[in-house]
Amino acid sequence: MKQHSIVILGAGESGVGAALLSKKVGYHVFVTDAGKIEDKYKKKLFDNGIEFEEGKHTKEKILQANEVLKSPGIPYHVEIIKAIQQKGIEIIGEFELAYRFKGKSKIVAISGSNGKSTTTSLLYHICEHAGLSCALVGNIGNSIAGQIAENPKEWYIAEISSFQLDDIKTFKPEIAILLNITENHLNRYDYKLENYINSKFRIILNQTKDDYFIYNDDDENITNQLKKIITNTNPLPFSMKHEIKKGGYIKGDQMMLRIQEERVSMSIYDFALKGKHNNYNTMAAGIAAATIGIRKDKIREAVKDFQSLEHRMEFVATVRGVEFINDSKSTNTNSTWFALESMNKPTVLILGGTDKGNDYSLLEELVTQKVKAIICMGVDNSKIINAFKDKVPVIVETDSAKKAVNASFKLSTKGDVVLLSPACASFDLFKNFEDRGTQFKEAVKEL
Ligand code: ADP
Repeated sequence: MKQHSIVILGAGESGVGAALLSKKVGYHVFVTDAGKIEDKYKKKLFDNGIEFEEGKHTKEKILQANEVLKSPGIPYHVEIIKAIQQKGIEIIGEFELAYRFKGKSKIVAISGSNGKSTTTSLLYHICEHAGLSCALVGNIGNSIAGQIAENPKEWYIAEISSFQLDDIKTFKPEIAILLNITENHLNRYDYKLENYINSKFRIILNQTKDDYFIYNDDDENITNQLKKIITNTNPLPFSMKHEIKKGGYIKGDQMMLRIQEERVSMSIYDFALKGKHNNYNTMAAGIAAATIGIRKDKIREAVKDFQSLEHRMEFVATVRGVEFINDSKSTNTNSTWFALESMNKPTVLILGGTDKGNDYSLLEELVTQKVKAIICMGVDNSKIINAFKDKVPVIVETDSAKKAVNASFKLSTKGDVVLLSPACASFDLFKNFEDRGTQFKEAVKEL
C-alpha cells in the first residue's frame, strides 16, 4: 500500500507535535512554515528525520499530499488553503490527528470564551492529586499529538479553542466542557456571533450517549443554542442561579455537585480560586473530576490548594497601601467585567491594546460604580476615550507599561487598587499577554 502523505502547515507547538505523531504512525511527513521556525522546534524536526521548509510554502509539494494538517492560526480564506481545498485535499487540525491515534485513552476537552486555561489547569491539578495517569495538553501546555507520540497517558486534559474546533471532523471528547460564550474573535467569524457559537458547539458534534457535556446553564448563548440543536450526549449543567438535579450549582456559599450517585458539597470560601468567574470554573472542573470518578475528598483537597495562574487576577504587590493586580490575560470585555465585578476597593483601571471589536457598554455600569480613573495603554485609545469620557473623572493616555504604572500610582491613594485588565489583545505594544503582564509587574517593583 502506498504510504499516506501528510503536509503540516505551521511549525509551532501543535504543528511539530502533529509531525512527531505522523512520523511515528508511519506517514510520510513534510512540514512547511511561511515564517521562521523556532530553534527548539527545528531541532525536534531534525532529530526525528522530518523534512521541513521555512520562510515559504512550496505549493507544488503541498498539493501532492493526501492530507493537510493546518495550524489553528491559519484562517480558511488565505490563498494556500483555497488552493488545497480546490484540489480536494482534506484539511484537518491537530486534535483530529490526535484523536485518530489516541488508542484507549480518554479526553476531557475544555472550551469557552474565558476561563479555559484556568479550568483546564485546575482539573489537571485535581486529576494529578488523585493519582490519575494524565497530561495537560492543548493551547495551554504540550501539543496533544506530541504528547501521544512521546508520552501517552490514560487521560488528556485538553484546552481547545474555537479555531481548533473548526478543524475537527470525527474528534470526540468523552467529557466536553463549555464554560461560556461571549463575543470574541468575531473577526474570524465574519463578525457573526452565530458562527462563533456554532464553532464552539462543535465540541459536542460527535458525542454519543456514553459521553458527557458539562455547560454553563446561566449563559444564554449556550442555553438558546441547546434549544435549537439535537444532542445525544449526557447533559451536566452548572448554575449559580438555580438548583440542578444532575450537574452542579452554588446556593448561598455552598457548592453542590450531583454526579450519578455521588454528592459533593463544599463551601466556596474554601476554593483556592476567588471571584464569581472562578466559582464557575471551579464548579465545571469539579463536575468533570467527579464524572471521571475521582473521590470527593481528593476533589475537595485539590480545589483548596490549587495555585492560581500567572497573569490572571494575579496579586503583584501593595505599594504604600495601593494594591496592584495583574490580569493581563484579560483580552475581552467579558473577562474585564468579571475582574471589575470582584473589586471591592476604588479602582484605577488600566485598559487598552488591540481592539478585537469590543463593545464597551458592557462595562459602563461597573466602571461608573467602581473606577476612579482609566489609564489607556494602547496605540489607538480613541474608542475607550469615547466610551468612558462621561463616565469617569480622569482618563490618561500612555503607551508603555512603565508609563501606565507610574500614571496609575500617581492617581491612586492608600486603600485603592490598580487593576491591569486591558479587555484587548496586546500586540500593538507587546509581544503577547505574558510580556505585557511581566512588564507591568517589573514596573510595579520599580515604584
Ligand atoms: P482563556 O484560556 O479562556 O483565555 P483564562 O483562564 O486564561 O481563560 O482567563 C482569561 C481571563 O478571563 C482572565 O482575565 C480571567 O481572570 C478571566 N476569566 C477566567 N475565568 C472566567 C470566566 N469563567 N468568565 C469570565 N472571565 C473569566
